[in-house]
Amino acid sequence: MKGSHSRRRFMKMVAGGLLGFSLDGKPTAKAQSQKSPNLVFVFPDQMRAQAMGFMDEDPVVTPILDRFAQESLVLTGAVSNYPVCSPYRAMFMTGRWPHSNGVLSNCNSRSAPHGNELRETDRCWSDVLKDRGYSLGYIGKWHLDAPYRPYVKCENNSDKFAWNEWCSPNRRHGFDLWYAYGTYDYHLTPMYWATDSARNKPIRVKQWGPEHEADLAIKYISNIGGKYRNPSKPFALVVSMNPPHTPYHLVPQRYLDAYAGKTPEDLINRPNVNLKGDTPGGKLARRHTKNYFAMVTGVDDQFGRILKALEEKGLKDNTIVVFTSDHGNCLGSHEQPTKNVHYEESMRIPFLIRWPGRIKARHDDLLLSTPDICPTLLDLMGFAGDISKETEGISHASLFLTGKGLRPTSQLYIWIPVGEPGWGRRGVRTHRYTLMVNKMPDKPIEHVLHDNVNDPYQLKNIADAKPTVVRELTTELEAWLRKNNDPWLKS
Ligand code: CA
Repeated sequence: MKGSHSRRRFMKMVAGGLLGFSLDGKPTAKAQSQKSPNLVFVFPDQMRAQAMGFMDEDPVVTPILDRFAQESLVLTGAVSNYPVCSPYRAMFMTGRWPHSNGVLSNCNSRSAPHGNELRETDRCWSDVLKDRGYSLGYIGKWHLDAPYRPYVKCENNSDKFAWNEWCSPNRRHGFDLWYAYGTYDYHLTPMYWATDSARNKPIRVKQWGPEHEADLAIKYISNIGGKYRNPSKPFALVVSMNPPHTPYHLVPQRYLDAYAGKTPEDLINRPNVNLKGDTPGGKLARRHTKNYFAMVTGVDDQFGRILKALEEKGLKDNTIVVFTSDHGNCLGSHEQPTKNVHYEESMRIPFLIRWPGRIKARHDDLLLSTPDICPTLLDLMGFAGDISKETEGISHASLFLTGKGLRPTSQLYIWIPVGEPGWGRRGVRTHRYTLMVNKMPDKPIEHVLHDNVNDPYQLKNIADAKPTVVRELTTELEAWLRKNNDPWLKS
């Protein structure tokens, strides 16, 4: 504080009892509990942006999200830049791109020898909140640890190939309540390690994963008897649901009932799906679209229970709630089974953020990128000064709060083959186009260009017809890659 004006304001704030800072400048615990917002971050796995009723795309039943959208800032252009599990999760936690945070592929035994896991030393948004006195809870899928031998004994780990791993307490980045697993897709019989569970003692559950996780989230929010968190501290809670991820048939009947009598013709309205079903993608779509939508409806229902707990506890106004996903799902579009491709169904994700009285409910086509989430949340919560210098994403807090702020002109798309950081697919997505460039050893470079405005289902590759657009977007792509020190440029 400099000058008499500031000093006068300082004294006035002290007199008014509004000052939330001790004399050494650090926020007091009392001030934090009164002023710092809570955060509830809910992200199901593999939920595409199109699968929300209010988007008027998939004919899906999502009454909770439809209502939540009315109270939220909805980012209609949000994507997962590297639309697969672990790379998204590491970008979300660190605010850094894969070549910087080291998570270049999904965490499993094949990528483990390349050191592919979230580093203990990376400073995540949760580390900042811990240092700022928050209680932190993580519930659900984590998928940021490399499996190591002897592998955890479970159905998706074998001696030849392993997916699932326990997260040791020193690798939890500040989360003091832990109820999570690496990756495990048995949605009706999920498994978890609790805060104090030993690696060889996971908890086995017979309940649909999202419902079980919402039960615990509600207990955490309600916090009866102060059992789950320190009631005098603000909190941040992540609920990382696995559905609507495969296998799609593992969904309670009551959510299928929402689509009783519906045929594939009623449910599949995307012209990039072969509705005849005489191809693998078409068959998949006909067989599982109803199941996928039922899972989405189930996730919607469980999200609604979490929102209700916040209201009942009187925490709605001082809690930032985010609903998003780690990537989308093609489900037969373009003959693609799931994700990890540049198509809209794979890249576009829900991104809804509610903060009553602070963030105005509206739609915005901001080109949000995954590494932006970490600095944006910290900035919104009042900790802009604590954002790590290594963060590469940019804060959109100003845009969220005022509608004014930086507007990136594109989003980067990435796919990296395991152990080959300089190869694979890179691309950019703008408000108009998606360009994808595929570079693999001993193969010609492939270019795919879609005009997403005139061809929203990306049925045509117009790269050959539009060389000028390809050139301009390649320049944009190279700028991203130079900034990220991506060795792909030199491959
Ligand atoms: Ca995933």
